[in-house]
Amino acid sequence: MITRFAPSPTGPLHLGHAYSAMLAHDLALNAGGEFLLRIEDIDRIRSRPEWEEAIYEDLAWLGISWEAPVMRQSDRMEVYSEALDGLWARDFLFPCTCTRKDIAAAMSAPQEGAAMGPDGLIYPGTCRRSHTGLPHSLAPRPKDQHLRLYMSLAASSVCEHHVNRSGETLWSVGFAEEGAGPNDEHGWIETDCDTLTKGIGDVVLARRDMGTSYHLAVVLDDAAQGVTHVTRGQDLFEATAIHVVLQRLFSLPTPIYHHHRLIRDETGRRLAKRDDGRSIRRYREDGATPSDIRRLVGLE
Ligand code: GLU
Ligand code: ZN
Repeated sequence: MITRFAPSPTGPLHLGHAYSAMLAHDLALNAGGEFLLRIEDIDRIRSRPEWEEAIYEDLAWLGISWEAPVMRQSDRMEVYSEALDGLWARDFLFPCTCTRKDIAAAMSAPQEGAAMGPDGLIYPGTCRRSHTGLPHSLAPRPKDQHLRLYMSLAASSVCEHHVNRSGETLWSVGFAEEGAGPNDEHGWIETDCDTLTKGIGDVVLARRDMGTSYHLAVVLDDAAQGVTHVTRGQDLFEATAIHVVLQRLFSLPTPIYHHHRLIRDETGRRLAKRDDGRSIRRYREDGATPSDIRRLVGLE
């Protein structure tokens, strides 16, 4: 078993991060497996070396040790670019020049209604057709525009035939959930083709400003690190179907997922990076011990 913790160095680690890291570390340790660390720093504007240093410091203080080397996404831009070239050549991507405003406007057209998917507004398809009518891939891959995944093509290429418990035939992709989604979803989780296309849509795989995206990077990196169990917050449960589609497109294995509850404050709000009062460093400075932190997040 190989688990990982994949923080973004864009602020201090808080109790929610501590919970995620300790849970993944415990799972690996109990199974005699390995725990890996990955620094998710594709957002070059918000990522800071001092936050990365603080991650190492906080984790070490929590009693967490990780196998070297640490993977850093900023070292892997070449890998992401090659993967995008591959999808581009297979015609699964198209450039998109829409602004958020364009998308909202296209969606307020009668009968469409602004629908939200796990990746934000569901893209109405404005740029899906090329201006020339020829396949997009006949032109070189643009590096300065958003590239979206043509989800209906992707879905029809990766969805598999399943017969569910009531004997109905579904075209779907699935993954094993050993934790739980926000509505206690667990076991074998299936997403049908139609939901991929209509409920998720043409997600951005390369952002103009980053040359990649969270979805693309996380899938390639988990595979490159040989992660067998992805432990992360329930906020990412809905995005998992996108990751499974990408794993199938790249012929990568689908890990087992373990989504965990989110740590909330007294008012029920989930903790954010700006909640400095909940930062691990602050607890440490106030004299808390690592076992106090374990207790606070409900790990013992
Ligand atoms: N880097 C992401 C975050 O800080 C986590 C991604 C993941 O675990 O898949 O929320
Ligand atoms: Zn567009």
